This record gives sequence, C-alpha cells and structure tokens, in this order.
Amino acid sequence: MQAQLPVPDDSRAPHGAAPGAPADADAVLAGLDPEQRAVATALHGPVCVLAGAGTGKTRAITHRIAYGVRSGVYRPQQVLAVTFTARAAGEMRGRLRQLGADGVQARTFHSAALRQLQYFWPRAVGGEVPRLMERKVQLVAEAAGRCGLRVQRTELRDLTGEIEWCKVTQIVPEDYAAAVAKAGRDAPRDPAEVSRVYGLYEQLKRDRGVIDFEDVLLLTAAVLEDRPEIAEQVRAQYQHFTVDEYQDVSPLQQRLLDQWVGPGSSLCVVGDASQTIYSFTGATPDYLLGFRTRHPDATVVKLVRDYRSTPQVVHLANGLLAQARGEAARHRLELVSQRDAGPEPVYAEYADEPAEAEGTAHRIRELLARGVRASEIAVLFRTNGQSEVYEQALADLGLPYQLKGAERFFERPEIREAGMLLRGAARAGADTLAVDGPDLAAQVRAVLATRGFTPEPPGGSGAVRERWESLAALVRLAEEFEAAQRGAGLPADLGAYVAELDARANAQHAPAVEGVTLASLHAAKGLEWDAVFLVGLTEGMMPITYAKTDEQIEEERRLLYVGVTRAREHLSLSWALARSPGGRAGRIPTRFLDGLRPGSGSRAGGRGGRGGPGGAEAGERAARRNRGPVKCRVCGRTLTEAVERKLRRCEDCPSSMDEALFERLREWRSVQARSQGVPAYVVFTDATLTAIAEDPPGSERALAGIPGVGPSKLEKYGADVLALCAGEEPGGAPDGRLPDDPPEAPGDGAGDLPEDSPEK
Ligand code: ATP
Ligand code: MG
Repeated sequence: MQAQLPVPDDSRAPHGAAPGAPADADAVLAGLDPEQRAVATALHGPVCVLAGAGTGKTRAITHRIAYGVRSGVYRPQQVLAVTFTARAAGEMRGRLRQLGADGVQARTFHSAALRQLQYFWPRAVGGEVPRLMERKVQLVAEAAGRCGLRVQRTELRDLTGEIEWCKVTQIVPEDYAAAVAKAGRDAPRDPAEVSRVYGLYEQLKRDRGVIDFEDVLLLTAAVLEDRPEIAEQVRAQYQHFTVDEYQDVSPLQQRLLDQWVGPGSSLCVVGDASQTIYSFTGATPDYLLGFRTRHPDATVVKLVRDYRSTPQVVHLANGLLAQARGEAARHRLELVSQRDAGPEPVYAEYADEPAEAEGTAHRIRELLARGVRASEIAVLFRTNGQSEVYEQALADLGLPYQLKGAERFFERPEIREAGMLLRGAARAGADTLAVDGPDLAAQVRAVLATRGFTPEPPGGSGAVRERWESLAALVRLAEEFEAAQRGAGLPADLGAYVAELDARANAQHAPAVEGVTLASLHAAKGLEWDAVFLVGLTEGMMPITYAKTDEQIEEERRLLYVGVTRAREHLSLSWALARSPGGRAGRIPTRFLDGLRPGSGSRAGGRGGRGGPGGAEAGERAARRNRGPVKCRVCGRTLTEAVERKLRRCEDCPSSMDEALFERLREWRSVQARSQGVPAYVVFTDATLTAIAEDPPGSERALAGIPGVGPSKLEKYGADVLALCAGEEPGGAPDGRLPDDPPEAPGDGAGDLPEDSPEK
C-alpha cells in the first residue's frame, strides 16, 4: 500500500463551513469582477496573473481555490497554496474557511518543504532529519575565525547575508568569485575570503549534523530530483498549486516548484513586478515576467482596478511608479481606484525622531477617537531598529500596539490557557447553560476574569499589556461569533464557541488583535490597513545608505511603493531632520517624493509639509524613553539581562553601531583611564560605549538618558563624549562628519525575512 503524505493539520479541522460561507460554488464567484472571475474559473492549466497592488490578486486566487473545491473539481487535500509568510498563509486559510473550503494547505515554501523532508528523509536517506539551526551567525563567525579572519559584527551580518544569497541563487563556494563579478555585486570582503568562509561553514554544518534554512529547500529539491518514485508520490498527492507574490520567488524556490508541478498538475501564479523587494536575498521577477514564454498555453490575466485604496492614495502610488526605471518598471500597470475619494496623503516634517514618533502617536489617537480601529492602523518603517521609539510613543499615550512577527496567536501561552479554561467551563456548564442563556461575551469575560482579565486594559506597554490584548481579542471574537450565529439562527453557547476556537486554531485563523501594527516595510507586503503611517522617510533610510547601484535604488523605490499601497484611506508620510533632540538638523526627505509632495519641485526645493519643531520638550522625552520595560529595539523582546538592558537590544541581535565612533570612544577611554590610573571600565563599560555608538546623543540630556551615564560621569566626561559624537576632537575642530548620518541598516536583513524564517 502506498504511504500517504503527512496529513495536513488543517484537514483534521472540523469540516463545518464557517458562519456565513457562500451557499454553493457559484456563490463563491459573486463579488469578483470579470477578470478576477476569469482567474477563478480557469481551474486547469497554467494561469498567470500580472497585476498591481490592491487589485485583488490574492482575492482572486483564494476564490479560485474555493471555487475549485466547492465545485468538486479539486479535492482540498490536493491543493497547495504557497504564500510568502506564515502570516499570509494563516490569512489565506482563514479566507478559505470563510468560503467553505477547509482542508486546503496554505504554506510557505519553507514549511511545505520541511514537512516533506521530514516525511521522506527516513526512506530517502535514513535516520532522522538533521537538526535545523535557528541562527547561522555563530557558525559563520566560527568559520571566519578558523579561516584566520578578524570580522566585526556588522561584517559578520553581511557575510551571513552573502552566504544566504549564494545558497538561494545556487552558487557553490568555488564559483563565488566568478558569480560576484558576473552579477556586478559588491562583495562584503575579498571574494576569495568569502568563498573560503562559505566553504568552511558548509563543512562545519556537515560535521555537526545540522542544516540551515536554505538547506531545507535544497535537500527537498535534491531528494525529489534523485528519487523519481518519491517525486511521483508527491505529484500524486498535490495536483493544484498556486503561488502568491511570485515576483519574489528565488531560483532555489523555483527549482523546488519545478519538482512539485508534474505534467498533470495545474499551476497558477500571481504577482506584481513593481513590488519586487527581495532581490537583495536573490529573488527575481524574471520567473513571473517569463511565465508566458515558459508556458505558451498559459491563461494570462491583467487586473488594473484597485479595490483597496482611495484615488488619492492611488494617485501617489502611480506617481511613484512613473518615476521608476529598469526592467520591472517597464511592466508597470497604471492603477485605477474603485473607491470614493478620501483624504489627501499628509506629509509631515519633524525636528527629530522622538518628535516624529510623538506626532505620529497623537495622529493615531485622533484617528482612534474618530472611530478607526487600532487593528486598522499601521506604522511602517524601513528597519526594525526604528520600531522602539514608536513603541514608546504609543505606550506614553496608552495606545495598544502589536509588533509584526510576534508569536502566533494560538500558540501564545495565555491563549492556550484560556482555551483550556473555556473548554472546562463549557463542559461544566453544559447542563446549565441554555442555548439562549446569558450573553456569550459576558460568559467568556467571566471565565477569563478568574485568571485576572480586567474589562479595562492595564497601564504600560510590556508583556502584561500584550497578554491583555490577546485575551481581549478572544472576547471580541465571542461577540462577533454570537452575532453571526444568532443571525443564522444557530446556537451561540460556550460549547459552540469553543468548537469555533478549535477550528480556527487548527486552521491558524487568528482573530485580529486590537492594536496598532508596527512593522517593517518588508514584513507589510500583501497586507492592508485603513490608515498607514510611513515614517523615517529620509535620505539614508529611504533609500537606505547601502543601496548604491541603480538597481538597489530602484528596489528601495519599490519598497516605498509597497508601503504607500498598503493604505486604504489615510496615508501619512513623515521624516525627521535630526536623529536625536538637539542633534544637527542635517537630514533631508527622501528623493522618491520629489515632485510628488507639495513644495518639492526639485531636490533643492523647499520642504513642504506640516508638523512642528519638537526641540522644546526634548529633554523630557529623552527622560521618558527610559521608563517602563526595556525592550530590544531590533526584535522587540523584553530584556532582563543587565548588559542587554544597557545595550537596549539582545546581545545577538544585529547592531546599528557606528563602528568608527566606537573606536574613537575606546581610544579616548584608554587615554582617560591611563591618565587617572584606573581600569578602563571605571570610565565607561563597553556596553555603555556601545549604547552611545549605536545611538549617538546630540545633547547632555540625551546622553544622560543612556544607561551607565550618571550625573558625576556626565559632569566629568559629558563634553568630551558629546564632542566625539559630533565628529569633533574633544575640545578640537570638527572633522566634517555629520553627527546625524543615518545608521547602517539596523535590523535589516535577517529581521526582515519572511515570518516563519528561523533566522528571525
Ligand atoms: P497586493 O498586491 O498588495 O498583494 P492584491 O492584488 O493581492 O494586493 P487583495 O489583497 O487581494 O489585492 O485585494 C485588495 C483589497 O481589495 C482587499 O480588501 C479585497 O478584499 C478587495 N477586493 C479585491 N477585489 C475586489 C472586488 N472585486 N470587489 C470588492 N473588493 C475587492
Ligand atoms: Mg496580495
């Protein structure tokens, strides 16, 4: 008997359709426009959808799958929908469930491959699958050390990124030097050295019996290529594939897809070349743009109606794309908004970053007061390191927020515990609770109250608040569920609610947590909110400093386009002239908005926009930043270790340090220590110098806000340290360096990888 592939978790979910699911297959097509309908009904053969942001690509493929399942053409177990992040996969499962098509697998390339690898490894290779490494950096550091190379932390991150690029573009160590030259790529070090480190890294992995994130795809592809009988089994199991965000597929993912899709399978891909934002990791829109050439019989559909955004937002998005250059730009489609007019985008200029964060938080409070839900608001930034100041500003106003990439909803400890309690209560109350008993949300609240859940949120911004937000989401879900059930004349008791929770947990269909989303632009792709704040839009951040070539600059422009097109109605674009309060106002707004924002006719033009200078309360803000739980400003984890609290980030999270400044501070410290005859750490510890070099203070107040700088040290060393931070010799002349040069990509790279990446 032929073994079955691992049963998807989802297929174990109860198959009862969610409340409000369409009555039949034809009803699934209602609510699609003619082109989307053409996609949804093309159930066989290759389909390619080329369309701009917000035109309903994801909606069209979700409905296509649902239509296939509901019309009986697809068996749910034979469908594999590949999405870009675990969150997108979860959302797709949720949408499919609402359309009455449970049991379809929606996964990332990585998670689909991992399941197959685990299943086939014993047969293909024997024994257990090697352990998957959580992080590469340490092993890369070891490999570099063994090669006799001294590498700084930032270099290590670049080296790791380079190894990842090699692996997803399928370049072996021996070919690296030639490949770099061919791609016109800036190698982070001498190519011969990178090649040696890469080779040794691979060797160390083999010696230790571990694999990395890319190996999961490589090994799965290799097993399928080498073992035709296994490939046949996979192809017999999965026959209908859809790939969302196909413009960002990598050669390695494509290799795997080629193995999955057999002669009898159907493949449907959707994408938008103008949203290619992962080229730096080796992804390429070439597969999307060349789809018709590879599949001459493909049904190719273009969508141009933008259902997401107002004409005002769409106008800016089209304006941005009109300035784009390069291959992807040649394929752009002008978007046509289908929505009523809305407010014009707001452009805001601030004196410094804390003022920008504070101003943003105030605008968010206004929106909330006008009835916009917190979960319908997002603040998007270029690098994860920018998030902390926004967390603090929102917390200062008592506004709830959630960081994108947080633990999955149904896996959070408080939700597991609440599920157990609710299940217990449902069993205990089964005899006593009538179908139309007291209101369901009140019962849920009462059960959660036994574990300290209060009707009002607790103060502060830490883990306690996050826990409360999760539980509040369960209460809201009870309200929505009750309304839906009663509307359909169905029971709305605790038992039915618990069953709904179980079904959602199996389908990973998390309810929206009621908080403002803070996310990087990379992590926001495919998502949408009523109100979007694009912050930190200065030269150096957008485009990021290390984007140098024309192609890299174009990718940054596309990233801004992705950001703009996340907004349904309210869009705000802002920047700050200095990093810290009192710092030099040397920054300028992003070039990408030139000619688009009011008063920005040319690069030399005035600075249009609103927002006020924020210098007055600068000191207060600096002091306020030190209150409350200390969170890693790169990954958002709450910090408990003293050194980490000083650094204000996890020790192994990427650093945004100005290395040159750090070295100058250390030299200065040894001079001080020698002249006083004390050990160096008595002057300042390494952690304090790191904290200074990671966020150079522009004023005494800001310096006083850094852990490890007390009043006496401030008095003794303050002037020297500030001079060093301003690029001056202590007491000497400036060397011309701008104190507000943007940081080197804090949190970029690993932090922006798809959500289920273990590199996260
Ligand atoms: P992105 O490029 O950002 O991934 P997309 O093309 O995948 O966008 P969707 O997310 O599928 O777009 O749709 C954007 C929004 O427009 C969603 O809220 C969706 O429900 C809505 N929408 C799409 N098509 C229609 C339609 N025919 N009628 C009404 N609303 C629609
Ligand atoms: Mg989409």
